[in-house]
Amino acid sequence: MRYLIATFLAVSFFGLPWLAVNYPGPAQSVFSAIEEAGDQVAAVFFEHRPKTIAEIQGRYKARSMDTKVRILIVPGHEPTEGGTSFDVAKERDIVVLLAKELKTFLEKNNRYEVFVTRDEKGWTPEFFEYFEKNWEEIIAWQDSRKKEVRRLIELGEFERSIPLVEHITAPTDMAMRLYGINKWSSENDMDIVIHVHLNDYVRSNRLEAGVHSGFAIYVPESQYYNSTTTSVLAKTILKRLSKYNPVSNLPGERGGIIEDQELIAVGSYNTSDAASMLIEYGYIYEPQFVNPETRGLAVKDLAYQTYIGLLDFFDATSATNVARFYDTVALPHEWREKIVTRTPEGSDVFALQTALLLEGVYPPSDKNKNDCPRTGRLGPCTKRSLSDFQKRYNITGETDIIGDKTLEKLNERYGKGVF
Ligand SMILES: [Zn+2]
Repeated sequence: MRYLIATFLAVSFFGLPWLAVNYPGPAQSVFSAIEEAGDQVAAVFFEHRPKTIAEIQGRYKARSMDTKVRILIVPGHEPTEGGTSFDVAKERDIVVLLAKELKTFLEKNNRYEVFVTRDEKGWTPEFFEYFEKNWEEIIAWQDSRKKEVRRLIELGEFERSIPLVEHITAPTDMAMRLYGINKWSSENDMDIVIHVHLNDYVRSNRLEAGVHSGFAIYVPESQYYNSTTTSVLAKTILKRLSKYNPVSNLPGERGGIIEDQELIAVGSYNTSDAASMLIEYGYIYEPQFVNPETRGLAVKDLAYQTYIGLLDFFDATSATNVARFYDTVALPHEWREKIVTRTPEGSDVFALQTALLLEGVYPPSDKNKNDCPRTGRLGPCTKRSLSDFQKRYNITGETDIIGDKTLEKLNERYGKGVF
């Protein structure tokens, strides 16, 4: 779930247009605004040092200990507050898990230096202290950034746009901590910031699972200075994630990359120099997150594909090498028991769905990934795909189940003995 800031409403009395019209390039308009706006505003403008693609790719290629690519991972929401939930699944805890997996993968590569804002115990001491000691400065800083953008709006140099998807307004303290994270990121020279979330949407009965599935990546709206670098990076991550996971089919999230002007996480009011994105990795009620038995694997797989997607941006050859055998951690997998003899839910089924996907039979030909996400549940989608798999390998007499012959074929093709 994403939080936005309500403060843009406060500028509506300037009489600005409420229709979204994107300027092709923000840079020129900024400079003309500087000339017109006078010294005071100009002084603030020059504090912006948005990371360019060349700059962060250069850091990666430099291969010097001092110039690692600096990545901050932000598990969404607060240690004890906020975020969505469903059944036993709590967003603010699951995102910590995912962040941890992502950090572990990224740290395998010594070109990255990875930071994270909190773990299962709470804010890391560094962030806890930063918020404590810099509270007033954070408030003043975000205020000056807002004034700057409002000034641009007055000058007709910045267009206010309405976000396509409804967000929930962040209470002020939480909003300030998000701005604080942006401020910390600038001061600590972060190149990339990734906010980790699970999605949800407004519906009449929150106790029932919703109808949408899939992931979505929120990026800064094109007028913001950190927009270009973020978009390029988001595309490489989207490509990896979308091989195994559906893109969100929530209206407004189609396409998977959504520009947003109001999310603090991606740098609203030009408060982030780093390439900043917020990834909604899936919906909180999707069975693979709700079931504690599949959650670990589902989350690790999403982290893995994010890691490979990042590597694509820096070094495509190396990404191809890393993902040479499998670009998913769900495989290889050893299927030991006939699934029909157990509850048809769990990691075995998640791995089965992944294997069937690689076989090209999952989802079934008249369905898409949103109809049939990898849920770790043996439902109609998986049964149909399984039957296609069995036909392909002339397996008979094991309709709708994984019997001995199916088990053998799966292990032969996707089992641990493959490598
Ligand atoms: Zn969230």
